[in-house]
Amino acid sequence: MHFEDYEVIIGLEVHAELATKTKAFCGCSTEFGSDVNTQCCPICTAMPGSLPVLNKKVVEYAIKTGLATSCEITRYGKQDRKNYYYPDLPKAYQISQFDMPLCVGGYVDINKDDGKKRIGITRIHIEEDAGKLLHDVIPGKSLVDLNRCGVPLIEIVSEPDLRSSEEAKLYLEELKSILECLEVSDCKMQEGSLRCDVNVSVRPKGQTTFNTRTEMKNLSSFSAAVRAIDFEAKRQIEATKAGEKIIQETRRWDDAKGENYAMRSKEEAQDYRYFPDPDLVPIVVSEEQIEEIRKTIPELPSAKRERFVATYGITDYEAGLISQSKPMATYFEKCVDLKETPKTVANWLLGDISKTLNEKNLEPSDISVSPEDLVALIALIDKGTISNTAGKKVLSIMFETGKTPDVIVKEEGLEQVNDGDALKAIVEEIIQNNPKSVEDYKNGKTNVIGFLVGQTMRASKGKANPQMLSPMIKEILDNM
Ligand code: ADP
Ligand code: MG
Ligand code: ZN
Repeated sequence: MHFEDYEVIIGLEVHAELATKTKAFCGCSTEFGSDVNTQCCPICTAMPGSLPVLNKKVVEYAIKTGLATSCEITRYGKQDRKNYYYPDLPKAYQISQFDMPLCVGGYVDINKDDGKKRIGITRIHIEEDAGKLLHDVIPGKSLVDLNRCGVPLIEIVSEPDLRSSEEAKLYLEELKSILECLEVSDCKMQEGSLRCDVNVSVRPKGQTTFNTRTEMKNLSSFSAAVRAIDFEAKRQIEATKAGEKIIQETRRWDDAKGENYAMRSKEEAQDYRYFPDPDLVPIVVSEEQIEEIRKTIPELPSAKRERFVATYGITDYEAGLISQSKPMATYFEKCVDLKETPKTVANWLLGDISKTLNEKNLEPSDISVSPEDLVALIALIDKGTISNTAGKKVLSIMFETGKTPDVIVKEEGLEQVNDGDALKAIVEEIIQNNPKSVEDYKNGKTNVIGFLVGQTMRASKGKANPQMLSPMIKEILDNM
């Protein structure tokens, strides 16, 4: 198979739950994880006669996102009913925006290894979420939880500008970091706050028109989106090469099996019978309101990234990773304000701290070590009080216990041995126990020094000062 003759075309529709306190059209709480059906009222459960009133925060957050992605704010929006029947949708329609979204024509820049690429945003519109079906509570039965009914969403539709699953992942990461930075969505993927639909088509390289696409809905992690795109692109290329026709259809991605299957074709696709919601007035936004919202937009991740490179002399790669997360960027700058070297802080953040967060499945906002304590830890290493190795151990205990580095170093007895005589005693013992190494050294194998340093570090339980060891070992060996 020659996949390289083909180009993959991807467009994404991202749904983000908005971080409003209350739902889109009623006063019910949007909090995640409460008991089933405790956050509902006549409006979000569609009792006859109830009337929706749009939460103005929803409009504000959508416009804020539009401004941050360089969209044009249309200033006149309409809300429409998207009609379909499903047990988690008591109204039998979803309030959405059909032909008059709040924001159109923006873009997001992604940072690829070979430079920036601009991905167009077709539109951003507001809509409401549906409830949830619970299939596993009572065997053989499905239950309905309406807590999520009416939780506000924005849908961000991209142009078909993405050309690989890697580009799609970079785009999703950039979008997530913008939404988090704006604080319009908590973007917690594990709670379903951010989901995406992927549209995929393929075409022979050189062709300028697009071919028929398929769609996979509701992917709940970026890695699942990547796997789904790769699978579907391969499937389409193979089918095309075999002379089959790609039909426009929705396919379900089964992430556990790593494959997808057809759900419904365009012919079977339901007609949503969109029409303007007669219960809701048009959304009219003034220039002044837009300017007020613009003022609430903080420094965006892309600007932060550039500033970090220019001001702190860290690499673009490091700056990209740190600025992607607002809590991490704030943490970084706090440490730098405490007069720590930016490069050193970046190394700790992207090294041991990120590793710990990953292992514990935590977010940068969960870093439990204060910037003051991290800076104090780095100072202990710089002064030679503890070794770098011991420093890593101290950090992990800091994460666990919240104790300060001073206290941990004392309690664990991690103070580095900088005393030449004490170190020499350990080194001599190690050399005595490794006659083979001595022989190798005499035969010109100088790399045994590294081995002996390692042995000494181990014998001293990581407390020996490694900078002092190499010259000391070399001197002893040379004098033997
Ligand atoms: P729908 O409302 O049916 O989902 P849209 O026109 O809103 O259709 O497009 C949905 C998404 O499909 C957009 O993100 C768009 O970029 C993407 N898309 C459109 N055409 C193609 C194509 N040929 N290949 C891949 N993606 C496409
Ligand atoms: Mg679609
Ligand atoms: Zn309600």
